[in-house]
Amino acid sequence: MDYSAPRTDVKPPPQQQPLQAVIIPVTPFQQNCSVIWCTATKRAAIVDPGGGTETILAAVRQHKVTVERILVTHGHVDHSGAVADLRDRLEGVPVDGPHIADRFLLDMLPKQGAGWGMPYARAFTPDRWLDDGDSVCVGEVRFDVVWCPGHTPGHVIFHHAPSEFALVGDVIFKGSIGRTDLPGGDHATLLHSIKHKLFPLGDGVTFLPGHGEISTLGAERMSNPYVGQAASGAGVTGLRRG
Ligand SMILES: [Zn+2]
Ligand SMILES: [Zn+2]
Repeated sequence: MDYSAPRTDVKPPPQQQPLQAVIIPVTPFQQNCSVIWCTATKRAAIVDPGGGTETILAAVRQHKVTVERILVTHGHVDHSGAVADLRDRLEGVPVDGPHIADRFLLDMLPKQGAGWGMPYARAFTPDRWLDDGDSVCVGEVRFDVVWCPGHTPGHVIFHHAPSEFALVGDVIFKGSIGRTDLPGGDHATLLHSIKHKLFPLGDGVTFLPGHGEISTLGAERMSNPYVGQAASGAGVTGLRRG
């Protein structure tokens, strides 16, 4: 994988790399929207467009990729507030995800947007709700879907096993985990998702979280203060986001 920040100046990857990505921070929460594409076909997906429609479309043009779908990890407005806009602008490109348990959040997008300073947010229904065992294809690249509830009830993550890469939204961050104080959040459920669904993907998996820096599952399994081996389960301090 090849990443860059802010992040439209990506170097061409070696031929063998099947995926390329640019990260486009959007919304007042600096959410890591990404455009990812199959290097063989230049077919792309926009992942978690919470805002920044024009910036995202500019990145798509700059890299000369063809967007074939929009992927959504969960229904918070910083991840999904611009999905309806982009679907219109891209002539009805299909939207995949989140899990149907986040339907109430998608229905609430105008209310979320009004409350969090993203008044453009519109409600939408995806073309396809996702669940464990599903896969989504971007060009010739196939991502496995893993349902990881806790931060929201319908949060999904996208895992590309051959390149050991995952897009994890607000499930886990470098040194932190997603907040669980918003509607539908549940701390115990989130811990279970991370330990029993995310970590088993393997220590070597590099992940792009919804906020902040890239990390690996192995690094977090060792040292994350909430879910790492050193976690005491009490008295943990640190910034939780989402
Ligand atoms: Zn977020
Ligand atoms: Zn969130």
